[in-house]
This record gives sequence, structure tokens and C-alpha cells, in this order.
Amino acid sequence: MSTVDQDLDVPAGSVQLTPAAADAEVTSARLARVGDIEVRRLLPLRHRRSVGAWCFVDHYGPASVDGVAGMRVPPHPHIGLQTVTWLIEGTVLHRDSLGSEQLIRPGQLNLMTAGHGIAHSEQSPLDHDPSLHGVQLWLALPDAYRQVAPGFEHLTDLPALRFGGLCVTVFAGSLAGATSPARVFSPLVGAEISAPVDAAAAVPLTPSHEHVLFTAAGTAAAAGTTLGPGSLLYLPPVRESVAITARAGARLFLLGGEPLGETLLMWWNFVGRTAGDITAAARDWAQGQRFGAVHGYDGAPLPAPPLDPARLTRRA
Ligand code: MN
Repeated sequence: MSTVDQDLDVPAGSVQLTPAAADAEVTSARLARVGDIEVRRLLPLRHRRSVGAWCFVDHYGPASVDGVAGMRVPPHPHIGLQTVTWLIEGTVLHRDSLGSEQLIRPGQLNLMTAGHGIAHSEQSPLDHDPSLHGVQLWLALPDAYRQVAPGFEHLTDLPALRFGGLCVTVFAGSLAGATSPARVFSPLVGAEISAPVDAAAAVPLTPSHEHVLFTAAGTAAAAGTTLGPGSLLYLPPVRESVAITARAGARLFLLGGEPLGETLLMWWNFVGRTAGDITAAARDWAQGQRFGAVHGYDGAPLPAPPLDPARLTRRA
């Protein structure tokens, strides 16, 4: 997806320390719009720019797209990150400047590595399901890899685990010895947790990772904290597991990784380190350089918002 935010230094979410787990912190999403779709933006936060390499978390839907165009995100550029598209309901058509054209369905991973630069569009296909529900996630590429050649992967065969009554799909990185085949560039985990029946279980964590959990559907609690859609639970490193209780039909996401230890500069759809990274990418997009063309989208590419270089200062 494309954020319309010029500056992702968002107002801080409300922070509550919960009595349930002394190390847990819960923040609230802020509502944003991506085209016609309302999203719950869970990351970044003012005081927490990334969790592991995860630097952007949008959760949208479930929304009715019955009889309407649905998602329409025109061609736009990215640098310095990987986009992770994961659907719970519905269909999305991805096109990119490498020539990829891929219909995304629930339970399948779309992973686009921007590296030095790529452009893509995302839209509901003409003949689409009536409901749309999913997450759009960004992984910051570590400094050593952020100029890699762009790439695109569509993966349907992903490791599945069970912990008690909880079903876990590891779509990125590793969890409990199961590793997604998706190419990532730092130690991390991205997993969807679903409860076909009422369930309670401990899900193992990598102690060197920090983690967040959020509920996308239904009713669930993690580390003793009830989480409805729009709430994000942060757990610092050292934990070896998290207790999860979920009602039948609930769905959660677990994202984590080794703290990045790098200061990111995020502006529009770019993740860089210096103001020069950002201004060069914006200039190249405006001039039709670097990113290539996305073919097949019936609409004009997105222009970058006005850029004020004075605001491009790095924050931890
Ligand atoms: Mn995008």
C-alpha cells in the first residue's frame, strides 16, 4: 500500500501499562485512509519506530467492497523496505515494475523487496469477493542490504504449527524451529495465529526478539491483556513465551525480531537513513527514473506529496 502521510512521526498512541504483565505495553491505532479504505495504523509510534525490522503495520477491514471498486492504490514507489501483504478475506491484484502480476488470496504471502527501488499498484480485481480484510506490513531493510536489487515473491506453501488449539502460520522468519521460505534480511518472525475453537496455549518466543501482538478478528487476550482490533501489545526481549487465550474464530498476528539498532528515516513510501536518500528517491520518481513503470493499472501513478527537506530529520 501507499501511505499518504508526509511524515510518519505520528501523535503518540495512548499508552497504558497493564497490570496483567509487568512488561506489557498497549497502544491504540490511529485511523488513516488509504484511498477509500480505512486502516488502523498500529506502527510506527512516536516512541517506537520499529519492532525488530517491522516498521509499518496497517490493519484494514473487514470492509464490504460489494458492488464498488474496492481497493485502488495507483502505482507508487518504495525504497529500503520489504512490503508484506497478507489477506484474511478477499482478493487483491498486485502489479509491479518488475512485470509481476499476482492475485493475492487469504493465507498466501506477497513479499516485495524494494531495495534500491521498485514501484507497484494494488487493487481489488474487477470481479472480487464482497469482503476485504487484511494487513499491510513493512520490514525495514538493514543498512547493509537496503540497496539490494528489487524482487517479488508469492508464496503459498508456508509452515504451519499448532500450540494447543491455536493454529499458527509462519509467513516470515522463524518461530519454534519452523522457518518461512520467504527471503528476509534480519532475524525476525511474522505469524498469523487463528483459533478454530476456543483455545488457550503458550506460544514460544525467541528471547532475543522484541514482539508485538494484535487481534485482527474476534476476541483474544495475550499476556493477560485483552486485545480488540486496533490495540497493539508490545513485549520487550527476554520473554520465552506468551500466553494466548482466544475465542473460536479469533485471529491474531505476532510480529517480532531482533531490535534493529538503526535509526530509520521514513517519509511517504520510502525508508532511508539520510535526507539525501529521501530527496533523491522523490526526485527520481517525479522524473520517471529508477523505479520503472507499472503496466496494466488503469489510472495515473501517485505523485509524491510536497517534500520539505527541513522536516527530514532522523528519529530513533
Ligand atoms: Mn506500497
